[in-house]
Amino acid sequence: MTKLEHTEVLVVGGGPVGLTMSILLSRYGIDHILVERRNETSTHPKARGVSARSMEIFRRCGVAEDVARAGLPASHVSFYRGSSLVDPDFVRASPGGDTELDAVTPTPGLICAQNELEPVLLTHAKARGEARIAFGSRHIGVDERAGVLISTIEDVNTGDVRQVSSRFVVACDGIGSATRARVGIAMKGTSGLGRYLSIRFKAPLGRLLADRLSASYFLTPPAVGGFMAIDNDVEWIYQYPYTEGSDAERLSDEECAALIRTAAGIGGLDVEVIDTMAWRMDALLAESYCRGGIFLVGDAAHAIPPTGGHGMNTGIGDADNLAWKMAAVIRGEAGPALLDTYEVERRPIAEQIIDISSRNSRAAGGYRIDDQLLLGTRYRSAAVQTDSTDGTSGLDRSKPPFRADPGKRLPHTWLRPEVSTLDLVGCNAIVVVNGEDSTEWNALANVAQREGISIRIENIGDESFGALCPKPGVSGILVRPDGHIAACFTGIPALIEFLEAACRMFGSASRDQ
Ligand SMILES: Cc1cc2nc3c(=O)[nH]c(=O)nc-3n(C[C@H](O)[C@H](O)[C@H](O)COP(=O)(O)OP(=O)(O)OC[C@H]3O[C@@H](n4cnc5c(N)ncnc54)[C@H](O)[C@@H]3O)c2cc1C
Repeated sequence: MTKLEHTEVLVVGGGPVGLTMSILLSRYGIDHILVERRNETSTHPKARGVSARSMEIFRRCGVAEDVARAGLPASHVSFYRGSSLVDPDFVRASPGGDTELDAVTPTPGLICAQNELEPVLLTHAKARGEARIAFGSRHIGVDERAGVLISTIEDVNTGDVRQVSSRFVVACDGIGSATRARVGIAMKGTSGLGRYLSIRFKAPLGRLLADRLSASYFLTPPAVGGFMAIDNDVEWIYQYPYTEGSDAERLSDEECAALIRTAAGIGGLDVEVIDTMAWRMDALLAESYCRGGIFLVGDAAHAIPPTGGHGMNTGIGDADNLAWKMAAVIRGEAGPALLDTYEVERRPIAEQIIDISSRNSRAAGGYRIDDQLLLGTRYRSAAVQTDSTDGTSGLDRSKPPFRADPGKRLPHTWLRPEVSTLDLVGCNAIVVVNGEDSTEWNALANVAQREGISIRIENIGDESFGALCPKPGVSGILVRPDGHIAACFTGIPALIEFLEAACRMFGSASRDQ
């Protein structure tokens, strides 16, 4: 007889997004199983740019320091443009544009190749008791029986089959998501914006590029493609663009090495090709993010052109948005309607990022990688109280300082050395308040607690509160566990107003709905 296991959530796929989802679910104490068909984490570096917002999420989960250790120093995060790697007239741009990123985030983005990032995430995911992580396990189907999802999992090494029953399935199984196909959710958009051969190689370039070390080395015409730093010393990627039907996917190592020497402008460069990966640039978005307890997260929900470095980072943001909501529903703190806000909040963000990244892919003069972009994520949904007439989630591209407004992320300011306002965000909601005396706020939180809504009051004093740039008169900021602002209170709210805002955070005017 087939073995049947039970868990609250089954996560399908152990790429960077599935692993982040697992870490977040564990943070909220949610029992779950993650299945990944590969026996090991990724070998070829795809994503390398980990954005400031992803690093903030990793910081909240206690993962950021290990990611930073596995990546390149922040001083290397700049973008090179030149006709070759040895162009004397090269230019270099920083990811923050005019902004000092340190002023808007405790964790500016950095470069950590996906094959280095995934083992860090896996180690943290495995270390948490709520997770059962099964690599070498392929998800081969899911059926719904009496409100329970029954998934079939095959051990890729032995062929053994087992079944897992769960309340929710989170599909983090990438762009080719079979889970998405099985539930009949279509992808809409444009396929084949470009084709590239990603050639990973070793070459002693670090010494030669010491005066221009960068994260990405974009080549200007007539040169083609670009170089991507892995360790900015001996390990590199060359992205070679090719047209469909050409023989690029069949190039020998020696032919790849010749392409690299030409593009680098260094005829005698000693090149050892490690491996290659052909990939296609798509700009696609799932028509829906959820069907019957099955949620799409990461590339399963959107294929974002890598021209901008936002694909994985958007997926990490999806996981951050969904995990606390799923946890609140599982714990009975919120009604199932809260989960409807996942698509309402996240899909328009992906749509906008696809649009920006697609435009980047067509920009003849190159593009700027914008590390601040995702810091401007602004939600509009039933889980956010807003008097704004703008009813759609989107990216607020206004310049810093960022204002503490409903739907946006709680802005960062240092409270004391090494402690950011973002570090106040917990597994339950918080209200960040000003002033010296929190007595009345604590009384409100105590009533909410008796109603089953756990809210902590964080008094940061007038000066720090002012640094969050709230609208005049705002004295309290209700912050969700994903660090986004659910409501701003003017003065000390009446109990009914406070409780209504707390209930709205859970996606409904009343938690019984
Ligand atoms: C060249 C390149 C450069 C990029 N650069 C960046 C960048 O700088 N920054 C950025 O943010 N993004 C970048 N991206 C995009 C990034 O790589 C993806 O967005 C990211 O990998 C998505 O993560 P994911 O976990 O959603 O999916 P994936 O990484 O595709 O992981 C999905 C996982 O699911 C597993 N799986 C699939 N089917 C099953 C099944 N049936 N059962 C069990 N497991 C299954 C797969 O084996 C895989 O491990 C880049 C992409 C490319 C191609």
